Amino acid sequence: MDVGAERPWLGRYGAGVPADLGTLPPDVLTAFRGLVAGDSTRDCLRYGDAVLAFGDVDRFSDALAVGLAASGVGPGDRVAVMLQNVPTFPIVTLASWKLGASVVPVNPMYRVAELSHILDDSGACVLITSPDLLVPIVAEAVRDRAIAVVVTDPRDLADGELPVTLRDADAADVPDVPRLLALIEQHDGRRPEPRTPAREDAALLSYTSGTTGPPKGAINSHGNVAASVAIYVAWMDIGPDDVCLGVAPLFHITGSVAHVAISLATGMPLVLAHRFDAAETLALVARHGCTFTVASITVFIALMNVDGVAGADLRGFRKLYSGGAPIAPATVEAFEARFGTYIHSIYGMTETTSPSHAVPLGTRAPVDPGTGALSVGVPVPGTVCRIVGDDGRVLPAGQLGELVTAGPQVVAGYWGEPEGTARAIGPDGIRTGDVGFMDEAGWFFLVDRKKDVIIASGYKVWPREVEDVLYQHPAVREAAVVGVADAYRGETVAAFVSLRAGADATPGELVAFCRERLAAYKAPRSVELRDELPKTASGKILRRSLG
Ligand code: AMP
Repeated sequence: MDVGAERPWLGRYGAGVPADLGTLPPDVLTAFRGLVAGDSTRDCLRYGDAVLAFGDVDRFSDALAVGLAASGVGPGDRVAVMLQNVPTFPIVTLASWKLGASVVPVNPMYRVAELSHILDDSGACVLITSPDLLVPIVAEAVRDRAIAVVVTDPRDLADGELPVTLRDADAADVPDVPRLLALIEQHDGRRPEPRTPAREDAALLSYTSGTTGPPKGAINSHGNVAASVAIYVAWMDIGPDDVCLGVAPLFHITGSVAHVAISLATGMPLVLAHRFDAAETLALVARHGCTFTVASITVFIALMNVDGVAGADLRGFRKLYSGGAPIAPATVEAFEARFGTYIHSIYGMTETTSPSHAVPLGTRAPVDPGTGALSVGVPVPGTVCRIVGDDGRVLPAGQLGELVTAGPQVVAGYWGEPEGTARAIGPDGIRTGDVGFMDEAGWFFLVDRKKDVIIASGYKVWPREVEDVLYQHPAVREAAVVGVADAYRGETVAAFVSLRAGADATPGELVAFCRERLAAYKAPRSVELRDELPKTASGKILRRSLG
């Protein structure tokens, strides 16, 4: 794609924001080392009552790197991390990068089959998880696999009480599982052999279904992550005086880049709280003076619904961005009326290593009068996004087509998936599967999706995956899964099922069947039994006519 081509959106940029990134900044590990060398006492991570300084985080990640190296982890290996938002997550990330290995974040809500797929596909040689996930999910998934397991309790490295409710199993029930904390406590001061990642080396393998098919590992290189961090820094004017509220899941690209990578690279302290709790989050914002976050819109809706916060003033919390799912303009207005601070839209994909578009800081996104859609923003520095028609031709402003995005944050491909890569990523950028238009001023609006994804509270659910599970049930003849509107989640998962002749199953049984096999957010909230599902003349089930 010709980056020099006309970019009407540049006129929307805030003062001092460059059109392009110029020389790319160093990788995050190198930037982190520079901060440690400068002032190792500055705050890096805040968790409960604990404050971990940059020097602590450096030492702990050295200790873990030495421990992982002793169990065979080396350059090019993959380290799977299945954790909530705990301080050991960034420590594992640094330790892996120090060894030249990449991180494979895994959603802790995943069940055995979902985890097994990622472990097999990535070939991870170690999985770092928490004791409460060990039994039964992890234990079952790793039973016949050559993979080491290390556990870290959510209370590790926290001082004082955390609002953490754990499931009943504890690592104490599972002997012989190395503990991350023990590796840190027993560390003899040795350091891993110093190495610096190459730009093209994989920093993260982030599993996503992209626009189609089973989850694939998007290879977010160290160059991609450094570019994304530089984009955030320029766009939101991020520096060490900011404080990041780490409320997006760290296992998703938003958390791993817009919380972990950016904090480690800039010296902005990162506030973590294990899992999201709305009242606790408001208290953390006030206690730490948070200035920046990126979160799904359901987080902001939950903050508005905390009892007794009518008078709360969050004006200092002004670098607020929300992405991952469509945002109703009325929600942004209500939040501003309540808290005095504006939620800026941001848009991207796992494959764009976080944002491709964002609303300039301090600017209000326009609303398209035709569709009522709030703009997702304009392409960020160094990024070119075109709207293309079905024939691949670039369409003029105002016309509806698929967004195709190119820039230094766009991945080169998917792990072990040359065909999937070729389908999605070309010289003009990545085909997003999102449908929308650009107006004359360069604002982008999303109005539809080519891909069949359902977005529930920002989590992506692929109907095919849920249907595949329903088809495993002996009573199910046909199944179709669709997204239906939901006031809080945006969309929610609904299933339509016809049963085999003579077979019996209640909607409740089918929901329970799915919940045993899929992360809870993917299981249908409702199942409607029908004699027949609507089909095309060729027999294809018409998903879009349901719901
Ligand atoms: P993921 O790879 O999980 O980050 O999902 C990326 C997808 O989320 C995009 O392709 C969009 O479909 C959707 N998405 C991300 N940000 C927004 C937004 N601001 N508004 C609407 N949809 C969004």
